[in-house]
Amino acid sequence: MTKKKVVLEAIVFCLVFLILFFSAFLTFYLVSRQSMEERIRSISQVAEKIFDGDDLKTGEAVADYFSDSSEYRVSIIQKEQGGYVILYDSDDMLQSEGMATELETGNIGKFVTRKSSYGYDMVYYAVRDDENPDYFIRVAISESSATRISRNFLVYGSIVMAILMGSYIVFKYREYNRTVKPLKDQVERLLFLAGQPVNKLGGGEDLALIADSIDEVSSELDRKITDLQNERAKTKMILDSMSQGFLAVSGNGQIVLFNKKASEMFDYSEKDALFKDYHILSAGEAFSSRVENCLLGREEDIPFDIQLKGRTYQCNLMAMAYPWFDQTRRGVVILFLDVTEERSLVKIKTDFFANASHELKTPLTSILGYQEMLENGIFTTDAEKAEAIHMTIKEAKKMREMLSDMLSLSRLENGKERKLEDVEISSLIRSLVADMQPKLRENRISVDLKLEEYHLMTDRGDIEKVFSNLIDNAIKYNKKNGMIAIETNACERYITVSDTGIGIKEEHLSRIFERFYRVDNSKTLKNVEGTGLGLAIIKHICQRHGYHIEVRSVYGQGTTFILRT
Ligand code: ADP
Repeated sequence: MTKKKVVLEAIVFCLVFLILFFSAFLTFYLVSRQSMEERIRSISQVAEKIFDGDDLKTGEAVADYFSDSSEYRVSIIQKEQGGYVILYDSDDMLQSEGMATELETGNIGKFVTRKSSYGYDMVYYAVRDDENPDYFIRVAISESSATRISRNFLVYGSIVMAILMGSYIVFKYREYNRTVKPLKDQVERLLFLAGQPVNKLGGGEDLALIADSIDEVSSELDRKITDLQNERAKTKMILDSMSQGFLAVSGNGQIVLFNKKASEMFDYSEKDALFKDYHILSAGEAFSSRVENCLLGREEDIPFDIQLKGRTYQCNLMAMAYPWFDQTRRGVVILFLDVTEERSLVKIKTDFFANASHELKTPLTSILGYQEMLENGIFTTDAEKAEAIHMTIKEAKKMREMLSDMLSLSRLENGKERKLEDVEISSLIRSLVADMQPKLRENRISVDLKLEEYHLMTDRGDIEKVFSNLIDNAIKYNKKNGMIAIETNACERYITVSDTGIGIKEEHLSRIFERFYRVDNSKTLKNVEGTGLGLAIIKHICQRHGYHIEVRSVYGQGTTFILRT
């Protein structure tokens, strides 16, 4: 409905009302006029009955009879030569009216309206006397009193009607402002949200046009909502595919984004974490206060480490405007990088330098000691001198062995290029065992080989180092008359090296692959030399090729290393 329509409707309503009003007025006017005429007629009849043209005194009786009425004037008129004379009058207004009276006396039984000789608009009604035709009985009433009731009705009725019509228009206009106008405003807002031209509705507020626009807006919004849902799903997919933990906190501390990795880290599902305060994440006091500072704009975005479930994460805080429409509110985006390996590598490197210097210093000190004693002539006998030389060579060999292992490790760490070739593991093991025969015989250790053909695409140097170290350890940490069993299982892709040696206590098992880690076996074994790097090299080679090495041991009974390729 348009504003124009509202006004038009009000006008039509008023016109109908006017027509009804005037019909009522007309009816009222006619009825009251008729009743007045009847009254005049009956007055004239009464007067005519009282008056007798042959007895003029009866005229006085007529004047007396009607003298009380202020509304009517009853006159007895005589026609004379050249005019009319009022003989008797209820209002005592006796004057000659000349020919003026001709109008009513000439129109007997009809109502005549004319100006009186006093200048008033009057309605006249005359009848001829039955007894004497020269006499007339005339009843007069002022025009205003004849129409007074109707006029009052018209005046007051018009006022009431004007008030009613005005109220109706005001009511209609207010009703329009209360209903259609807000509806139009809302639809215009929706059009804006839906990216449609707002002036589509034009200046009008036609309900049909508004309804059409609502239809259009709702289908446009439907499309937009679907687009948004797709976008949301896309964003979620990207966030969830990230290997880093990711979350966003709004300006008021609510979690507004939470990816899958973050869920795993904090043991909270996305559903449980979203729109909760970020303090629910138990990442330590430091984390909370850094986020708080970032939200308050107190701190620059400096990365820091936190520990969660035994892993180290680097937290990167980035300030952002959130909610996006409020540039004054500062939110924060947090990215968690898993730096566990990086940090332990740094530690390993630091430890390595400390350990390497220590391990090299010990034999070097001993070499220098023997050489100084020799130089200073402290050893006097040949046997003493020979022993000193023997010890010096032994320590130097130890140093060489250590440097060689350190070199191997360094090469592996620097990503020494792999030369892959088809290596048949069983024959490689046989050849290694053959090379170690002197050592095996010296320690009276027997070897049981259960070997089947086992092909592996690998770097020959690397895999040779793995088995030579394992077999060397199986000899070193074995008992006299002990046994070594080596088995290859080509089908299940594993190789085991077992010994019946001293075994490894439970508490050392998890650490023997660390660099320079050596178990103190001095109580059970004498003179077992080692660098503590053999197993670390094996572990490194396995990582490089994607193999898996594990150890099982019963202290005092023996150890088994299983290599899965
Ligand atoms: P090392 O040069 O001392 O042999 P490794 O890295 O090869 O260094 O071994 C680390 C430690 O693991 C050794 O000191 C030893 O105590 C233990 N170990 C390795 N292999 C065996 C085995 N077959 N039996 C018992 N202990 C072993």
